[in-house]
Amino acid sequence: MSLDDASAFAIDLANTWDPMGKPVDVLAQADSAAHFFKAYVKNEAEFVLLGEAMIPHRDLLRAAFLAVASDAPDKVEIWQSLEHALQASWTIGIDHRGNPAVEFASEVPLQQRLTAWSALGFFALLSGAPERTRVCQAAPCEEVFHDITKSGRQRFCSKRCGTRYNVARHRDRQKNSEID
Ligand SMILES: [Zn+2]
Repeated sequence: MSLDDASAFAIDLANTWDPMGKPVDVLAQADSAAHFFKAYVKNEAEFVLLGEAMIPHRDLLRAAFLAVASDAPDKVEIWQSLEHALQASWTIGIDHRGNPAVEFASEVPLQQRLTAWSALGFFALLSGAPERTRVCQAAPCEEVFHDITKSGRQRFCSKRCGTRYNVARHRDRQKNSEID
């Protein structure tokens, strides 16, 4: 898996908790968790209990993303707790494009692989352009995203959230002008 793939997985995993999602916690329900892991895990028999088991790590990963996005004073401590997740037995090679790619030793259990991969993906984002790692500004949405636009000024996870935010702001302005 390349570092870019690991980063994409880290963001996807962090977003399995979403206040606007149905369900809010994808990992807490066996069927939605299975659906999520299907995209990443070939052997379905392995992920029966994976969803709930991954929740503590997912919460830590989310906290790490939120700490970057808000430049929290305790961000380094949060990153250090995530650093432990990297301690797996793996090798680094290159993929067909010549980019660094990581492979785990065959004995590393699935849960540990996914935990380590997502932590690696997070730190790869951090070492690239941490200021482009953001949380959607259209509350109550808290979707984590990585801004890959040219301008680097993306504030919302999606067009839908951007529209929702602007409509709400427009209404607020109208309300205020009625009071005036
Ligand atoms: Zn959003």
